[in-house]
Amino acid sequence: MNKKTKYALALLMALSILAGCSSKEEATPSTSPAVSTAATATPNTTTSTPTTTATASPQASSKPVQSPSASPKASSTPSKSDGLQVIAKPESVTVLVNKQFSLPSSYEPTDLVYPDIPFTFAEKNEKRKMRTVAAEAIEKLVAGAKKDGINLAGVSAYRSYATQKALFQRYVLKDGEEKAKTYSAVPGTSEHETGLAIDVSGSDGKCAAEDCFGGTKEANWLEKHAQEYGFIIRYPKGKEKITGYQYEPWHIRYVGADTAKDMVAKKVTMEEYYNAVPVSK
Ligand SMILES: [Zn+2]
Repeated sequence: MNKKTKYALALLMALSILAGCSSKEEATPSTSPAVSTAATATPNTTTSTPTTTATASPQASSKPVQSPSASPKASSTPSKSDGLQVIAKPESVTVLVNKQFSLPSSYEPTDLVYPDIPFTFAEKNEKRKMRTVAAEAIEKLVAGAKKDGINLAGVSAYRSYATQKALFQRYVLKDGEEKAKTYSAVPGTSEHETGLAIDVSGSDGKCAAEDCFGGTKEANWLEKHAQEYGFIIRYPKGKEKITGYQYEPWHIRYVGADTAKDMVAKKVTMEEYYNAVPVSK
């Protein structure tokens, strides 16, 4: 990894702590303005990415990972003024939500339920909810983990557009919109709004949605088995520039077992799988 890459990764890490899962909703942004400014420009806007090294990923040199026909349920409408594209089929189980593709502000999943799994908090609130298909899958995943001696608990699942908006607005009032965008997800762009994503941790709640979760036996189990239950590690290590988020071993996203297994076999992110980023040739 060259110096530039390291720097970019460091910036992304700083950027993503809150922008990604932000279970730590009350946490105070600690990024300095200088870091923030650079970080916003990092994800996909750089054309001179350091792909000239011999370690350029295999996917990058091969042709599009997925045929267009299987492509984004993120068939999106023309871009809004801020460059965000609004997703046309937000209810699709394989919907691609990221810093470029936003859910419509009116979108609210119609089939949210409370999965029967332990959580790291006691309240019965929206953070526990998931869409039915994902809720059933997470119940099976947690049960499967338990059989292997791994006790998992939910940290944060669904977050409504309204909640994300309120959170974001609070930051805008505090720091102004430009700065707020560098550490908090713009409403519509948090994957938690799909009802298909959940942050998990060990049932002791240690390292919940924090970097130290990486490398734990719980994280290792997820890395190995999540796809069997239809989930992917949505923000994998080494793909920060593609997903726009730092490695988040705790954030898993339901896409269905066939898709999840296929993605894991191909070692690609959703962005690559649906050919939604200009993957370097
Ligand atoms: Zn998350």
